[in-house]
Amino acid sequence: MRIAIVGGGVAGLAAAYRLIQAKHDVALFEAAPQLGGLVRTFEAGGEPLECFYHHIFTTDTTIIRFIEELGLSERLVWKDSKVGFYRDGQIWPFVTPKDLLGFKPLPLIDRVRLGLAGLYLRRQDDWHRYEEITAWEWIRRYVGRKGLDVVWGPLLRGKFADQAEEVAMAWLWSKIHLRFASRKAGVNQKEQLGYMMGSFGVYIKELERRVREGGAHVETSMPVKQVTLGEDGRADGIVLANGRRWEADAVIVCVPSEHFLPMAPPLGEEYERRVKAARWQWALCYVLALKEPLSPIYWLNISDQDTPFIAVIEHTNLIEKERYGGLNLVYLSNYLTPNHEYFSMTNEELDDLYLPHLTKFNPRFNRDWIADRWVFKGPNAQPVIRRHYRDDLPDHRTPAPGLYLANMQQIYPEDRGQNYSLRMGEQVAAMAIEDHPEG
Ligand SMILES: Cc1cc2nc3c(=O)[nH]c(=O)nc-3n(C[C@H](O)[C@H](O)[C@H](O)COP(=O)(O)OP(=O)(O)OC[C@H]3O[C@@H](n4cnc5c(N)ncnc54)[C@H](O)[C@@H]3O)c2cc1C
Repeated sequence: MRIAIVGGGVAGLAAAYRLIQAKHDVALFEAAPQLGGLVRTFEAGGEPLECFYHHIFTTDTTIIRFIEELGLSERLVWKDSKVGFYRDGQIWPFVTPKDLLGFKPLPLIDRVRLGLAGLYLRRQDDWHRYEEITAWEWIRRYVGRKGLDVVWGPLLRGKFADQAEEVAMAWLWSKIHLRFASRKAGVNQKEQLGYMMGSFGVYIKELERRVREGGAHVETSMPVKQVTLGEDGRADGIVLANGRRWEADAVIVCVPSEHFLPMAPPLGEEYERRVKAARWQWALCYVLALKEPLSPIYWLNISDQDTPFIAVIEHTNLIEKERYGGLNLVYLSNYLTPNHEYFSMTNEELDDLYLPHLTKFNPRFNRDWIADRWVFKGPNAQPVIRRHYRDDLPDHRTPAPGLYLANMQQIYPEDRGQNYSLRMGEQVAAMAIEDHPEG
């Protein structure tokens, strides 16, 4: 079978790899100059680093299996996470139940309610009951107004901005359920986070190498413009941005929905409605290489409305700074609506907006600490999971036989992540094989 894959992010690469292993004839086209999509890297202190911070959880079993299969297990390290909350001018550790009990911005009764809600959700396996209620409403009802204002509200707003109140509880259930499942029991329970030495780009490169060695045709800097159908209505190829046509027996599209529709043939009102229903947040990552550490925390959530970013992720509090020439690598993170003003600001304007706030986390901070600075903008970074999301989910099998769609919009109820894009890529490859008349 000749298969064309559109999009060389994690999902497209996983599909390509499984199809090559099954001895099919694969061509993969990627619009960007490099493969990897949102897991792309740049160089910081002489070492590759993700443009958008990445780690994995112990519950991310598909990516762990891929890393093993690719012979890269010794690159995967597990470290205790150091999570904190910035609130009321102070950094509060926020990992264990003991930390939660000492979290003074919340009255004691609300700390207990917050902890009990986490324990309760951890034990709930049936997420379908959370599809009809928003996370906002559930927290208000069961954790209380204070827990919402101080902890969950800022976290939800940080990720979903003005769409935060619409996010379904099913999404929050999966976040909490899976995250708790990755911890050990007890009052001092620790969470472990996984990272690949040399960046997650290491497994992306290995997938690329195996796909190419297996005989796939891989082209980067080559956007796909159109998917074509034969007279029998089956997908029969694609048209590239340079007008070249590529024939195929099946086409797997692994790009965000809003890029899919313009290239897709007519797919009927209902399917198109579902694809159009996708709503996304974009990511803005402002990365600093500092001569001094900013804080001892790896992941610092900001629960303070005056700070113009939502989290400070100090990568070198997870992975030793010696790997990066002794520099302290810090992401200032934002998820924003696509038309947000920050996206049209220059890097210098962002410097002036962001940097004055860093003394909150370290009063000694000054601009002389900055050895380097980068800014990365990621469109279609986070789908907004709303109530009754299943009613809007497009199937991987589109109404056009031989045409498949696999993107982050279709990951549900789990929060999107490499693990689930790899799983989706595998699944859609298996579907294409199963559906083909010759099997
Ligand atoms: C800020 C941030 C932090 C994250 N943190 C984590 C984390 O800690 N852990 C984790 O596991 N995951 C994390 N993720 C999520 C993870 O990066 C994604 O789930 C995963 O990379 C998505 O892969 P994908 O292949 O589905 O999509 P994408 O990576 O979006 O890939 C789609 C590809 O399609 C290409 N494309 C688009 N249009 C065309 C066209 N017309 N022709 C050809 N190609 C086209 C794009 O260039 C892109 O390469 C994070 C993401 C962000 C933004």
